[in-house]
Amino acid sequence: MHPFMLSTVDEPAGAIAAHARDPELAFIAGGTDLIGLMKDRAARPERLLDINKLPDMARIETLPDGGLRIGALARMSDVAADAEVCRRFPVIAEALLFSASGQLRNMASMGGNIMQRTRCAYFRDEDDPPCNKRRPGSGCSARPGLNRNHAIFGWSEACVATNPSDVAVALAVLDATVVVQGPAGERAIPFADFHRLPGDTPERDNALGRGDLIVSIEVPAGAEGRASHYLKIRDRQSYEFALVSAAAAVATEGGRIRSARLALGGVAHKPWRLTSAEGALHGARLDDLETLRSAIARSFTEARPLAHNVFKIDLAQRVALRALQIAGGRA
Ligand SMILES: Cc1cc2nc3c(=O)[nH]c(=O)nc-3n(C[C@H](O)[C@H](O)[C@H](O)COP(=O)(O)OP(=O)(O)OC[C@H]3O[C@@H](n4cnc5c(N)ncnc54)[C@H](O)[C@@H]3O)c2cc1C
Ligand code: SF4
Repeated sequence: MHPFMLSTVDEPAGAIAAHARDPELAFIAGGTDLIGLMKDRAARPERLLDINKLPDMARIETLPDGGLRIGALARMSDVAADAEVCRRFPVIAEALLFSASGQLRNMASMGGNIMQRTRCAYFRDEDDPPCNKRRPGSGCSARPGLNRNHAIFGWSEACVATNPSDVAVALAVLDATVVVQGPAGERAIPFADFHRLPGDTPERDNALGRGDLIVSIEVPAGAEGRASHYLKIRDRQSYEFALVSAAAAVATEGGRIRSARLALGGVAHKPWRLTSAEGALHGARLDDLETLRSAIARSFTEARPLAHNVFKIDLAQRVALRALQIAGGRA
């Protein structure tokens, strides 16, 4: 690991200014992703700025309109244990409890979680094989190589990686926004626009630029939040990233779906909303399995599997259906 300087900051303006003027500086929160990347030489910042002393950024609070604000420095374990989160947005608590391990969740922040980089083994390989995300223009080793864990939606010839965050899938299904302070002031980024597809610039994971600091994540109030569920399929039952996961949130009326939201994890460079399925589910009965199944299938006409992950197409549809049924049972 190369040497680096560590300093701390206790007010956001100083953090934003330092990050904006110094391309070799990185924010560090829990350090559970960044330090690993530095050990693998996939990140080589000269300076780390510890943001843990920034005020008011670890709070979890209910907004006047019933929504939820989660500070970017709130720890995953605190959010997962929060009574309001568990009661009103179970999909968030479940996604967090399916993530990493207890020790990691105690350290890891919510802002750092949605910023974490892909677990593509070529990207994390300290021997530095061709990888456009790590070294733009060098090629993609996963495209012709081992790609069982990679994308089936939205990939490009430049990169077929997936986003590893579980809670990002839950936040996507709840139409959360990411509140960012930057050199030009504050802005709210809809969750759907926060993470990017790889296109020709897979080195860029998200919509943030130099000087941008995530201050909070806001989740709107809504009946769908309460009737929600996160289901994760992985190669082993704990301490493992998703092969495929699904978040579902449902509102019903007289046994029929008034509104359904579905998102998948482990299948794309960003949480993948099943918008065609969501439209087709409107008015369906929750006990009409065939209609639910064919509505979900509509979103898979655009799936493009790679050599080793054709199985994800069937698996993802089954996971989405099961998550929808469980969420519906809570409506
Ligand atoms: C063994 C292992 C297993 C794991 N399993 C899972 C899993 O199953 N599911 C899952 O979702 N995750 C998993 N993780 C990932 C883990 O959840 C993340 O490492 C963690 O959430 C990152 O948070 P952090 O605070 O430690 O971020 P850091 O490592 O401190 O930072 C990560 C990145 O975010 C940036 N950053 C941090 N805070 C901000 C901010 N406020 N504004 C702007 N940029 C910021 C940093 O500059 C850095 O680039 C696992 C990690 C490990 C090591
Ligand atoms: S899939 Fe993306 S991250 Fe993985 S090797 Fe290819 S370019 Fe790199």
